[in-house]
Amino acid sequence: MKVIDIIRSSKKTFASLEIVPPLRGIGSEELLDSISPLMEFDPKYINVTCHRDEVEFIPNPDGTYRKQTIRKRVSEVAVAAAIMKRYNVDVVPHVICAGATADGIQSEIESLRYMGIDNILALRGDCLTGEKRFTPTPGGYSYASELVEAVRRSEPGMCIGVGAYPEKHFEAPNIETDIEMLKKKVDAGADYIITQMFFDNRFFYEFESRCREAGINVPIIPGIKPLSTARQIALLPEAFSIDIPIGLSSQLAEAQDAEEVYHIGTDWCIAQCRDLIAHGVPAIHLYTMTKSRNVVEVLKACF
Ligand code: FAD
Repeated sequence: MKVIDIIRSSKKTFASLEIVPPLRGIGSEELLDSISPLMEFDPKYINVTCHRDEVEFIPNPDGTYRKQTIRKRVSEVAVAAAIMKRYNVDVVPHVICAGATADGIQSEIESLRYMGIDNILALRGDCLTGEKRFTPTPGGYSYASELVEAVRRSEPGMCIGVGAYPEKHFEAPNIETDIEMLKKKVDAGADYIITQMFFDNRFFYEFESRCREAGINVPIIPGIKPLSTARQIALLPEAFSIDIPIGLSSQLAEAQDAEEVYHIGTDWCIAQCRDLIAHGVPAIHLYTMTKSRNVVEVLKACF
């Protein structure tokens, strides 16, 4: 079923999950077993992230190095197929512009259609490590809006989600311009929006009302992640250009051990989800990072 139809036919807020494909060498049984505690909650669909090839420098015998691109993770298509087969649930593979040509992407989309998948999340992807600016692949796309437009043209029946940033995408000069660019994705044919994670719901509410004022009328689904380790207080703002609110960081600073940090992060996430549900969001998209314990607690408490 298409995500947009699931959203339209749902009478109350539901949960969707996002998982990250495992590193190569980890078997499908191990991955599927690791998400089985989450499947008990009957998620409506599972997103599978997509990861561009990474650059590594391999030592030569003479002491010099050679540059090589390698794929570190199992492909999103293979993981989506394994999940569908074991759990018979809808899957939403992410498709990124980064590192791909338009033809390569089209071929992947055609493969997804053969597999009976009619949902994707269309994204630009990030720079390679060490690059300052995003560089499109020759013959590829510069922005997610171009990808949306191409998929909408070639596969009119595909349901397309796109990403958005309540605290602004880090490259955008200001939130107004970023929302204008988001509208381009919607005008190009995106059916719904999923946001980057945030830890203060006020960012989401303000963003949502700015989007509506800008004429963006598709469903906007908040993306939420339970914070689980003390290191994430520094890592998440750096990786995703988001704020950790003082109310959360000060509680974490007083935590006695890792278990207390974990509980503070989970409780904060439960409170965020309850508030979003009361606000009437259509769904909550939980970033699981393929770890189930805290997400299970959030699902139990809120859905
Ligand atoms: P775009 O919408 O193309 O925007 C990128 C930047 O360009 C923004 O600053 C925007 O304001 C600007 N812009 C957009 N269009 C134009 C235009 N026409 N002219 C000028 N400026 C423009 N990354 C992965 O690699 N794999 C994943 O699986 C993945 N999953 C994600 C899931 C979600 C829900 C989200 C929110 C992000 C995800 N990302 C993923 C991260 C994403 O790829 C990065 O944040 C990336 O930097 C931007 O992607 P985008 O699709 O939002 O880009």
